[in-house]
Amino acid sequence: MLQPPPAEPGMMEEEVDTPALVLDLDAFEANLDAMAALLAPTGTKLRAHAKTHKSAVIARLQMARGAVGQCVQKVAEAEALAWGGVPDILVSNQVVGAVKLARLAALARIAEVAVCADDPAQVAEIAAAAEAAGTRLPVLVEIDCGASRCGVEPGPEAVALAERIAASPHLRFGGLQSYHGSAQHRRSPGEREAAIAHAAEVTRRTVEQLRQRGLDCPIVGGGGTGTFALEAASGVYTEIQAGSYAFMDADYARNEVPPPFRQSLFVLSTVMSRAVPGVAVLDAGHKAVAVDSGLPLVHGRPGLRYASASDEHGKLLVEDGAAPALGEKLRLVPGHCDPTVDRYDWYVGVRNGRVECLWPIAARGAMA
Ligand code: PLP
Ligand code: MN
Repeated sequence: MLQPPPAEPGMMEEEVDTPALVLDLDAFEANLDAMAALLAPTGTKLRAHAKTHKSAVIARLQMARGAVGQCVQKVAEAEALAWGGVPDILVSNQVVGAVKLARLAALARIAEVAVCADDPAQVAEIAAAAEAAGTRLPVLVEIDCGASRCGVEPGPEAVALAERIAASPHLRFGGLQSYHGSAQHRRSPGEREAAIAHAAEVTRRTVEQLRQRGLDCPIVGGGGTGTFALEAASGVYTEIQAGSYAFMDADYARNEVPPPFRQSLFVLSTVMSRAVPGVAVLDAGHKAVAVDSGLPLVHGRPGLRYASASDEHGKLLVEDGAAPALGEKLRLVPGHCDPTVDRYDWYVGVRNGRVECLWPIAARGAMA
């Protein structure tokens, strides 16, 4: 059930009901501007990942600053964006099953929609869905550039799949998807450089082999918040798919040399108990803030440490003299931004301490 918004424009942040997802608008806009400025001299485009924000509003703000479109992971996310007016969407993921593919093919009537594949059977399924809908879908070949998650082997296997796509009257060959997920949080810059040097090399080789067979790659996509500068500098990638850069989180902050963006996303929570000495309890447990990549940090309040999360309780350990008041509102920096966003229906946009906007998280829970 859609929850009512926890705030109204004009309220002070302290008045916002909790737990709430607060977006510091100055920091958020600075992040969008910073990414646009960093990519501009490289000539590489941004196709920001909407798995992070799940919002057509934010997608359009990114595109107003030059992003060419959006990536999504799920058909339901593509629907939320396309229905919200986003014109160019890449499902940077595999879509399997006739029901999902029929939905995707139908979306192609109102937006440019592309999808990835790493299996000939999948290509046949996508072609059948496109034929039934009377559309022609761009399909990118996903290659495994080092993460060993999805993707065919770079080189001849990828070329064979691309030729199969290009041969279908219902499909167009859309290029290569080459995303190295596990490199994003490798802590040292050297480890990230080595991983992306390998990814760029196998991608370059595959692009060249495709060209020799007469197949050009309209898109060569990859790169996340941890490595995008490397893909952008490689001369191989045409599109960067970073998502978390808009919000950031405590996990990215733990990279040695963290990405050059500000923390803009917070979970606002209320101190609901101080009964136990040395402890304060927040109304934000792991139903309110994702803990898969580590516990949240208490923002701007030294002496308070978020020590454990249960369903609805967040337990803080309090140093002498740092005790918060009962009812006090505290900002938490989530360990992982993407799944934290997915727990909320609304962004509460705040500037100079006041609520400025409420943006729906339209693709919240979009798992299908
Ligand atoms: N591209 C793909 C295919 C992804 O799976 C992800 C995240 O998992 C991203 C881009 C964006 O990563 P980040 O949010 O770390 O920038
Ligand atoms: Mn993530």
